Amino acid sequence: MTHNDSARCKSKAGISFSKKSISIILLGIIIVATGIFDLVYHGVVTTRPIAVPAFIFAREITHGDTSKKQVIFTFDGGSGLQSGKKILEVLANHHVKGTFFLTGKFVEKNADFVREIVSGGHEIFNHTYDHLHLPTLTDGEIVAELDKMDRIFTRIVSSTSRSMSASVADATAVSVSSKPFFRAPYGDRDERVADIAFKAGYHGVYWTVDARDWEESTGITAANVTHRIVSSLAPGDIYLMHIGDNITGEILDDVFTTIEKRGYKLVSLTQGI
Ligand SMILES: [Zn+2]
Repeated sequence: MTHNDSARCKSKAGISFSKKSISIILLGIIIVATGIFDLVYHGVVTTRPIAVPAFIFAREITHGDTSKKQVIFTFDGGSGLQSGKKILEVLANHHVKGTFFLTGKFVEKNADFVREIVSGGHEIFNHTYDHLHLPTLTDGEIVAELDKMDRIFTRIVSSTSRSMSASVADATAVSVSSKPFFRAPYGDRDERVADIAFKAGYHGVYWTVDARDWEESTGITAANVTHRIVSSLAPGDIYLMHIGDNITGEILDDVFTTIEKRGYKLVSLTQGI
């Protein structure tokens, strides 16, 4: 009886110990995996952020020409215009051609601003119509998301050339399509998405460094974002920033000045790849 009890206790203790061990091991795996994901996906390192791709597909661009001391700034637009005017002002003052990935909804809502981007000689590419998670859509829906943005962009730019100044018309003459580049909303894509987009005429463009300006609501400050950009500076970097937050407009002039002082050129996507 005692022996049995003792055996049972031992057995219970054994089971409970092994459950605890498994829990600790699982927790360890989760912590390590989360750390790796954060490191790979968000580039959270102090020296040289690791590029976006936890997964890299053929035909996908994640950095520019690394043999040249130059970097590419890209600005995504899907919602607000918070930093819009300031971005264009800073690009003009620094004689830099910027690169914009815009949703069709953004283009519809901010047609005049889009015309200003075009008349400034900047580049606009496809960020889909409705900023959805592309891997959750069917093949046809993915193509429709890209096509719809492209049609709206072309229509708005074309109407510009009839009604706006000659300089705008000149600029639009060379930029009537959002092809041949697109950026998947949230950077969320898989091999199927990449293939479908490629067949529809688009190369995926991602980023080398996520400036995390979009996290301003979670406490990320202008100083954090500036530090992140400047400390990661390396030839060929593609920076991800956004039109719809306040930090970008606030820091862009200083960031550009610092980068230029370090001997780097700021170039557009097509100039820099
Ligand atoms: Zn976006």
